[in-house]
Amino acid sequence: MTLSTKQKPITILGSTGSIGTQTLDIVTHHPDKFRVVGLAAGRNITLLAEQIRKFQPEIVATSHEDKLPELQNAIADLPNPPKILVGGAVGVAEVARYGDAETVVTGIVGCAGLLPTIAAIEAGKDIALANKETLIAGGPVILPLVAKHGVKLLPADSEHSAIFQCLQGVPEDGLRRIILTASGGAFRDLPAEQLATVTVQDALKHPNWSMGQKITIDSATLMNKGLEVIEAHYLFGLDYEAIDIVIHPQSIIHSLIEVQDTSMLAQLGWPDMRLPLLYALSWPERIYTDWEPLDLVKAGNLTFREPDRAKYPCMELAYAAGKAGGLMPAVLNAANEQAVALFLAEKIDFLGIPRIIAQVCDRFSQENNLNPSLEDILECDRWAREAVLETEKKLSYSIVP
Ligand code: MG
Repeated sequence: MTLSTKQKPITILGSTGSIGTQTLDIVTHHPDKFRVVGLAAGRNITLLAEQIRKFQPEIVATSHEDKLPELQNAIADLPNPPKILVGGAVGVAEVARYGDAETVVTGIVGCAGLLPTIAAIEAGKDIALANKETLIAGGPVILPLVAKHGVKLLPADSEHSAIFQCLQGVPEDGLRRIILTASGGAFRDLPAEQLATVTVQDALKHPNWSMGQKITIDSATLMNKGLEVIEAHYLFGLDYEAIDIVIHPQSIIHSLIEVQDTSMLAQLGWPDMRLPLLYALSWPERIYTDWEPLDLVKAGNLTFREPDRAKYPCMELAYAAGKAGGLMPAVLNAANEQAVALFLAEKIDFLGIPRIIAQVCDRFSQENNLNPSLEDILECDRWAREAVLETEKKLSYSIVP
């Protein structure tokens, strides 16, 4: 089916979050190109009800069972209300596999996206991958499933979309190196010794991108870039030695590739998540938009520098976990999610994030399993979260009053 003749049916998981609302903004501006089949969201029932009114999906899930009456109430006057599901990940997975949706946008934060993503793949849907944790934790299970069901994994992460865009027209085996650009996050210009005392509010101030809380903290620790290295390894099949990170404070070049003859290709644009989201939905087509085109003169200088490895230990932790393979990326990811949650709750300080993750990965290293099943992955996800909480308790007991 081509986009130009028909609306493409899509489903959005995490519809009230940053990725979900930006995807629906695309649908609003291109009603002739896209149609919403299903929506899944969490607790923001007011916004979900608005979205149901506007986009008229056939099926909806809220992962919070206690929110069902509120949602039913909010749309009681609709003549054709959607089918509403509850029951946590089970309801979300049902939405993911439902109906004639061709592409499922996975905008759920964290490892919670894993089961619904698998459900969508098994139902033959293409995935617009906006949830990197799914692939990082579940790579050893997801990749064989994608191959088995012949679906496409279309990256919606800006860096991986850039690489994917650069790869169009590059022959197989043409790719030699990937260079992921990083803004450097909230603390890129702060001396390393001041990181110990930064607050949650400081860390939530991202210089360039507007994103959810968890990913904004990940940008400040550079764990986001480390996770993206693992994501790039799984998506594009390069060894970790051939995936580099460069700090590019302006966030205009979204990433680059080097091909066999040393030619380097880049994708540029204003930092706006809608662009990679649109390409994940429209590929291989290009849809005209009225967004402000990039103005190179206005963008001005594009600068690059080496990331400071001592200042950002999360980067090295991610490379190490990626190279260890098997379950280690899942442990790293879960430990990071839990540590970031502790930081957001002001239970640990900023430097506690890499410290705790390192300890948890160390503890796990003897038990790594290079050929894990889905059950193994879910089990080690639970284990790593528990291990973070235990480690945090030990650390807080050891503080001298
Ligand atoms: Mg990114």
